[in-house]
Amino acid sequence: MCGIVGLVAKDNCYSRILSTLGRLEYRGYDSAGIALLSEKGFSVRKKKGGVSNLAGEPLAGKTGIGHTRWATHGAPSDANAHPHIAGKFALVHNGIVENYAALKAELLREGETFLSETDSEVIVKLIARAYRGDFFAAVSSVCARLEGAYAIAVLCEDCPEEIVCAKYRSPLVAGVSCDALYVCSDAPALSGEADAIAAARDGEFIHIRDGKITFCDREGNRLERAFTPVTEQERMRDRRRGTFMEEEIFDIPRALSDTLAALRRTDFAPCARAMRSAGKVFAVACGTAFHAALAFKDTVEREVKIPVLCHTSSEFRYRDPLVGKGDLVVAVSQSGETADTLEAARLARSRGAYILAITNVARSSLASLADFSVAMRAGPEIAVAATKSYNCQLLCLYYVAAELCFFRHTRYPAYMAELSALPAAATAAFGTFSAMDSLAQRLQGAQGMYFLGRDADVRTAAEGALKVKEIAYVFAEGYAAGELKHGTLALIEDGFPVLAVATRADLFRKTENALEEVRSRGAYTALFSQCEAISESCADFKCRLPAVCEALMPIIAVIPLQYFALRMCALRGYDPDKPRNLAKSVTVE
Ligand code: GLU
Repeated sequence: MCGIVGLVAKDNCYSRILSTLGRLEYRGYDSAGIALLSEKGFSVRKKKGGVSNLAGEPLAGKTGIGHTRWATHGAPSDANAHPHIAGKFALVHNGIVENYAALKAELLREGETFLSETDSEVIVKLIARAYRGDFFAAVSSVCARLEGAYAIAVLCEDCPEEIVCAKYRSPLVAGVSCDALYVCSDAPALSGEADAIAAARDGEFIHIRDGKITFCDREGNRLERAFTPVTEQERMRDRRRGTFMEEEIFDIPRALSDTLAALRRTDFAPCARAMRSAGKVFAVACGTAFHAALAFKDTVEREVKIPVLCHTSSEFRYRDPLVGKGDLVVAVSQSGETADTLEAARLARSRGAYILAITNVARSSLASLADFSVAMRAGPEIAVAATKSYNCQLLCLYYVAAELCFFRHTRYPAYMAELSALPAAATAAFGTFSAMDSLAQRLQGAQGMYFLGRDADVRTAAEGALKVKEIAYVFAEGYAAGELKHGTLALIEDGFPVLAVATRADLFRKTENALEEVRSRGAYTALFSQCEAISESCADFKCRLPAVCEALMPIIAVIPLQYFALRMCALRGYDPDKPRNLAKSVTVE
């Protein structure tokens, strides 16, 4: 969600800030702004809408900050866009100041006036008032008063080549290149700019000064931090297809293959020990990652007979969960910055549980707070709607299930061998895409649709429905096929689309029966399966899936549905990469 960048360069930094903001766009935003500092003071340009609105006559300055805003306090507008200025200071902020109302009331009493409705302007006003000639001390003293989440970058007119940044529960990394020093919300946005990166932790400050980057605590004491090269995984790839979402769907075989190679190099022994002694096993996640967590639960419970308590992170954190000392909590988040999942993991940790993080970003907050971490290798995922990261989350979770649990089973070697078949099966799934295009053409005008399944196929159905909601803006629900007649059937009428996934041979007939029931009430039915029996089914539309072992089918079965949603989106005239109201990594509650 939104992004910040700060830069001290050897020459004018306007175009670099602009291009970095361009690489932050994928996180989701509604306005953008930039402030550069030169001997003449600040030059500021900020606008509602896209980063492209900032183009024009370059602003002057070698030191600058930039922002993409995802509004939380105050509507998207030019005035509410960041940077905000007060006295000698300019600030960009990512996050929410939860006690801003009290702080603003105090400032109003002191006679301050505000140009925006944002919580962020309060921070810069406080910094300006706290300043007694020590830039760092002013920022640090104000941060001590803030509640909520923030990554901030601040400029001071008295300190021409300095930036002071602070991080608490919003992501922030620092980067270096031969001719510039950076701070930024994420590493991929520094692709092609910084050569080496280091991530800040909660409560830390980053001070760019005298041509150096220093990590420090709130008193300004230096903290050791190693910069490591930007990895291949962090590098943003050039887009060859029309949209990032399409690019990312076609990247699934590579992503699976790289993730599998990384998993095979991982030592699971310490985590397996924790799992063996765990009283209870939990899985927490949000959105797409929650569907992956549910699939993990299905596998572990079926294969190993260990119960897994699966919760959406936002529910887990507020329901006084039964988590305690020695339990294992598997936390799944593509970005590793999902605020609800981070809080769920922190809560579990504070109660003595072990945390196993499954994330796509090795330097993320979730990976750094976890006891064990599995970094998948999907590479940067730019489209807001998750695709390749879901396939890779499933792969990681199935692998983890095997490593942590199947040691009791003789099935382990065969299962591990089956994993190698996944990249080729994913490529084979592309063979369904022209049929998905026809299906999307048939259903593009639908007002709503159901996705059905049983067992792990319910998760695939739910994920298919979520994709259609996210990017095609069609009401869709993923449902357990057997639940249909307990209420939902009432909504079925002529032509209502019902898509069913049936990858378990022993349940195929059951799912088919559910399709028959809706079909006889006028529904338009589509069936997705690798089972031979699909050839005899009388569904209106049939999609034969490439086969891998049943336990791994969810990784493959979702691919046609991802593409179907993409085609629905395109045919209905929307941009799949930037769905309305949604942001990529949901860093606020
Ligand atoms: N809360 C701030 C605002 O509404 C920052 C939002 C963001 O993270 O972009 O301006």
